[in-house]
Amino acid sequence: MTVFWFRRDLRTADNAGLFHALQSGNVLPIFIFDPNILSELPLEDARVTFIHDLLEKLNRQLRHGLAVFMGDPLEVFGQLIENHSITNVYCNSDYEPYALRRDEAIAHLLASKGIGFHSFKDQVIFERDEIVKDDGLPYVVYTPYSKRWFERFTPDMTQAYPSADLLEHTVNHDYPFLSLADIGFERSTISVPDYDDSIQMMDRYAQTRNFPAPDATSNLSPHLRFGSVSVRQMVGRAINHPDKTFVKELVWREFFMNILWHFPHTVTRSFRPEYDHIRWVNNKAHFEAWCNGMTGYPLVDAGMRQLLHTGRMSNRVRMVVASFLCKDLLIDWRWGEAWFAQKLLDYEQSSNVGNWQWAAGSGVDAAPYFRVFNPVEQQRKFDPDGEYVRRWIPELNSLDYPAPIVDHAQARIKCLEVYQVALKN
Ligand code: FAD
Repeated sequence: MTVFWFRRDLRTADNAGLFHALQSGNVLPIFIFDPNILSELPLEDARVTFIHDLLEKLNRQLRHGLAVFMGDPLEVFGQLIENHSITNVYCNSDYEPYALRRDEAIAHLLASKGIGFHSFKDQVIFERDEIVKDDGLPYVVYTPYSKRWFERFTPDMTQAYPSADLLEHTVNHDYPFLSLADIGFERSTISVPDYDDSIQMMDRYAQTRNFPAPDATSNLSPHLRFGSVSVRQMVGRAINHPDKTFVKELVWREFFMNILWHFPHTVTRSFRPEYDHIRWVNNKAHFEAWCNGMTGYPLVDAGMRQLLHTGRMSNRVRMVVASFLCKDLLIDWRWGEAWFAQKLLDYEQSSNVGNWQWAAGSGVDAAPYFRVFNPVEQQRKFDPDGEYVRRWIPELNSLDYPAPIVDHAQARIKCLEVYQVALKN
């Protein structure tokens, strides 16, 4: 028997690893809820609800249903090996540091029993060392990376795997399909909206993407995160659009995945080591005000409240709130990264760490540290009629809305001093 292990690829259509597994026939499709990940999450985590909904869909689509387990993956595989005669395990590659350690341990266990472990590229067009400089070193600047990405790209790379045509090749089993309650969770009131990959969205993308009020971007990120859509399909659509703005954003996603793969230490340390000398103020009351959308800066507060209530926030507003935390409040980017990790529907370690380090100035291809976003100017530019801030701050023009917790002009000067001291070390 062959096992196919679903992880962050929760779809039957155009799934590389699933296709290869099904070709060999007699497949037991499984999913494992991993307490190493779940134990950190609140009871009503919206991502867990989304994952569970996607698993229900898989369970309906797969001929004999999906076998769902709850437990440490190493122990689950230990039991599977005892109970079945398994020859091979298939999955799609996952490049995050925790996933790499987990997969290495599983591959080791399987190898000790003579079982093959096969993982396939599925969540990116280019992985690992496929886009590197001529000298073999990784790119750390987006523009040359993307140039090479487009040079290397050929249309056949987006060809779909006909995995959905082979769903008959699964085996009967009597493993239960676990409910949310079985894994100790409750249904969240926050749901993941559908994505928009229409030509009309791409037509207007360059003009509207920076404006949060119309909410006109694709909302692909949670779908790419959990694999409810294939990146090949999305790149295939986007690359043929005459305006390349949208497809270049998908390349940003791969760029940050590439950075995390080559520089896994950036999860906890600055990409540029000198930035680890910054003496963050880390004022807890300021952090709370930021988390709860009570800083007195409407664009920052609207974004943070949107995050709290929906798990979403546009890229422009993410840049503004991140800059405000690191630069105006001098709070460690890791605090902000961790808050986003708890709240974002699309939380993706590579994009989150990469963009937070970008905002702090400590990461790859970051804006120079002396360029500090002015939250008032940003609001004037990107929410000129105040539609977005009024949507999230009903008390905006009343005495209930707090005065700014810091003065931006003074905070900017202080930020530059603190950064200069750190970078002199
Ligand atoms: P669209 O604007 O429609 O873009 C299409 C796709 O391109 C996105 O779905 C995403 O896959 C990719 N993309 C767009 N912008 C970026 C970017 N700056 N970096 C990497 N990929 C990008 N994105 C995440 O997926 N997960 C995160 O945890 C995350 N954390 C972020 C933290 C900060 C501080 C900032 C500034 C950005 C972060 N982003 C993150 C990137 C970006 O904000 C989101 O991908 C985007 O807002 C998602 O909405 P969308 O799908 O409608 O994007």
